[in-house]
Amino acid sequence: MSNPIQKLADMFADFPGIGARQSKRFVYFLLSCDKAYLDELANLIISVKKRITQCPECFRYFEHDNHDHCERCEKLSIDRTTIMVVEKDADVDQVSASGAYNGLFFVFGGLVPIVEKETSNRIRINELQKRIARDIADNKLKEVILGFSLSREGDYTDTYVRDELRTLLENTSVRLSSLGRGLSTGTELEYSDSETLRNAFTNRH
Ligand SMILES: [Zn+2]
Repeated sequence: MSNPIQKLADMFADFPGIGARQSKRFVYFLLSCDKAYLDELANLIISVKKRITQCPECFRYFEHDNHDHCERCEKLSIDRTTIMVVEKDADVDQVSASGAYNGLFFVFGGLVPIVEKETSNRIRINELQKRIARDIADNKLKEVILGFSLSREGDYTDTYVRDELRTLLENTSVRLSSLGRGLSTGTELEYSDSETLRNAFTNRH
């Protein structure tokens, strides 16, 4: 059997943003912890996978607790005529907390890299197309709002999604808009305050 220190370090090295040296430091940190802490950590890692699942509508992680959909998708007072597409779960949390938006979400899963060719493996463009096609067929969709970061990749993703949705939205009355640009002080939704977000919605185009 391989050395457990090395084996664990190799696993940590698979984490996003973690290199070989940091992964070793994690292992030595764990070795210095008491058993109660390690038990809690191990149980939490196991239970997170059991208790958290991805919503089949918006692809957000949520504690399923015998529900099929996340709380937001099930909520009756939500405006179901609008879908906002964001990069990640943290963006949903931030926009929800701001109170600036009362519609549905779709977590895209990432931004489209400018250089990489094969992008559809990592982002949910197919799922987004399916969802929008279904909502158009159900005759309930009025607007799709794109809310990606104010960065080169965010702009690139905005253009990419617009291109990919063009055929679907052709000959429909569904509006495709992007959050207001150039007004925000923060470049990411995740770090934008409520006032900035409200302005971004008002100035969507
Ligand atoms: Zn959901």
